[in-house]
Amino acid sequence: MDKVRILVIDDEKVIREGVERALSKQGYDVTKAEDGDLGLALLKEREFDIVLTDLMMPGLDGFAVLGWIQENRPHVQVVVITGFATVSKAVTAMKQGAFDFVGKPFTPDYIRVVVNRAVDKLTMQAETKQLREEKNRGLEAIDKSQSRLKTVFGCMAEAVLITDVDSVVVLHNPAAIKLLEIQTDPVLGKPLADSIRDRTAVAMVAETIAKSVGVTREFAPGTISRKFLRAYCSPVTTEQGEVIGSVTTFEDISAHKEIDRMKSDFVAMVAHELKSPLASVEQMIYAVQVGCEYESENSCNALHTRMTARTKDLLRLIDNLLNLSKLESGTVVFNLEAVRGEDIIKDVIEITTPQAEGKEITLSYEPCGEEWWFNVDYDHMRTAIMNIVSNSVKYTPDGGHVTLTTSLSGGFVNFSVKDSGIGIGKEDLPNIFDRFYRVKGKATRHITGSGLGLALVKEVVEAHQGYIDVDSTPEVGTTFVLSFPLARQNGKPVEELQVSA
Ligand code: ATP
Ligand code: MG
Repeated sequence: MDKVRILVIDDEKVIREGVERALSKQGYDVTKAEDGDLGLALLKEREFDIVLTDLMMPGLDGFAVLGWIQENRPHVQVVVITGFATVSKAVTAMKQGAFDFVGKPFTPDYIRVVVNRAVDKLTMQAETKQLREEKNRGLEAIDKSQSRLKTVFGCMAEAVLITDVDSVVVLHNPAAIKLLEIQTDPVLGKPLADSIRDRTAVAMVAETIAKSVGVTREFAPGTISRKFLRAYCSPVTTEQGEVIGSVTTFEDISAHKEIDRMKSDFVAMVAHELKSPLASVEQMIYAVQVGCEYESENSCNALHTRMTARTKDLLRLIDNLLNLSKLESGTVVFNLEAVRGEDIIKDVIEITTPQAEGKEITLSYEPCGEEWWFNVDYDHMRTAIMNIVSNSVKYTPDGGHVTLTTSLSGGFVNFSVKDSGIGIGKEDLPNIFDRFYRVKGKATRHITGSGLGLALVKEVVEAHQGYIDVDSTPEVGTTFVLSFPLARQNGKPVEELQVSA
């Protein structure tokens, strides 16, 4: 305890000074007051630990002081000073909460003994208070850490299931019920086998407990939602190494499995696409080796031409595949530059004209009449537009029409490619941008292709913040519309046009 502060209230000077002398020697801090009113004033303005007060004083008496202290400073210890004639009053004072009393006259030693006892009581009180506070803090901390743990456990995405040594479920989190689609309620206190239909999980818990080793399994628990789970089961042991239960975490790996499946499907598809043209080239090589000596020169030339075409197809397929995988992995660097729309469209028309002429298809272009620029990687954009235009030519019967038009609106250019071709059925439309997707039917049977063209277009369009739209009616025709943000229109930056609009 810091220096004990004592207030002595007594109207007799000898008493006040006697007490001061006796207590100051002990190292106490003593303040004196001549009567009850002055004592009360001091009590109101300063902090004291012990008050020694006379009971009988003119003005405010000791009882009134005691009453005020009880009410307003309950921690202060009051010792009443009283003459022997009024001992009964001292007893009353003690009943009202005074700590002790000293009768006048008193020896310095006696007053020190009484005050020391009061100090002991104060010290004990302080210690008790501190202990109580510490205990409360401890309880609060335990309470907090327990509720924190409970919250974490409850919020975990992984399912956690804890069993005792007999595989009886003793604890689980909500994710366990959800992930394992446990129907029985409640699960707690029941053998795991009663709650989970899947035997793999039950067996792995039993194995973990029996062998006291961690076990990992991947399995399809046969739940309604047909998911794949990965489970890790570890034994719970005492310090002496005795197994007392198990902790199993379950993780939903359905998405990983799906990606694995898609990867395998993709590899199978690529292998197939590469194999069939290669097989036909191989057959043609064989035919050339065996037959050319006997066949006419013409048919040999025809075989060479077909071999060359098939090999070109193969190379194009491999190119497309490589481009697509680069685009999808985001490793392609686009060299963006302001390109005049007219230039790129004319370039595409020039490249696809021979293909159109070969089928006597009219390839026409209706420009919007305004000059416009967009920020694009020239080569990638030309390939994308070319894929759309060459599809239109490819899927339009001989003698048909393919019309390219452009229009500008809202800071965008809409480039449309309309054909009078075979069209695409509603059921196929959502899939045509998927890799290797080709519409199967009478009309497409003899048209070759890898099904990668539109997948590439989509990647390029999206990389340029553009949109792609398609509308089609079988046996009538198809219209593809590509939209891109404009960079400049009639020589002015688009931002300026939008401000003045
Ligand atoms: P690739 O372009 O890789 O040589 P592809 O033309 O078959 O092969 P995509 O360009 O991706 O592949 O087109 C996917 C499918 O969409 C085509 O197989 C075809 O069935 C359909 N399709 C695309 N464009 C048209 C069109 N203009 N008219 C009718 N069908 C089309
Ligand atoms: Mg194509």
